[in-house]
Amino acid sequence: MLFLIASSGAPTQSRAVSSQQSVSQESQNRRLRLYNTHTAERIELVYRQGDQYVPGALAKLDYFLRDHRTGDVRHFDPRLYDILSDLTSSIGRPGGEIDIICGYRTSSTNESLRSHTTGVAKNSLHIQAEAIDLRMPGIDTLKLRQAALALRRGGVGYYPHSDFIHVDVGRVRQWCFDCPASVIVGD
Ligand SMILES: [Zn+2]
Repeated sequence: MLFLIASSGAPTQSRAVSSQQSVSQESQNRRLRLYNTHTAERIELVYRQGDQYVPGALAKLDYFLRDHRTGDVRHFDPRLYDILSDLTSSIGRPGGEIDIICGYRTSSTNESLRSHTTGVAKNSLHIQAEAIDLRMPGIDTLKLRQAALALRRGGVGYYPHSDFIHVDVGRVRQWCFDCPASVIVGD
């Protein structure tokens, strides 16, 4: 069984005629390469073929992005993967490896983080498996933030001191945590 993409994210060019379908589907395979900075695990897979997500790949990604403190797994909103994939393209590194700082968080993990660190929201979308914190090796994180903002596909948070951005599939908004004035002026 395949999941259909919500209409807002469906590529219009995917309605290929059958004779061209194999070629066009191959060209529309969406691949992700991720490194989990907490578990030191790597994953590389095609998570989407044409306009259909690949269920087995989504299951692997759910596990890869689990709450590493508790081992709990939750199903992620796959539109996040489209954001990640588009980010690598727009930054000029299509399919480039992404460092994952944080994926899913249980409520208890989120509360624990809130009590020990600043910048953690009470109703974080990480708890809904709708947010990912990331950076890309060799890419200026400020540039990555600008690329994420330009996509206008959800929330984008910037954490310069920890050197990562937060992306989510919530409403389009942005914030900058503990940012230097130069960055805030540039918003
Ligand atoms: Zn986050």
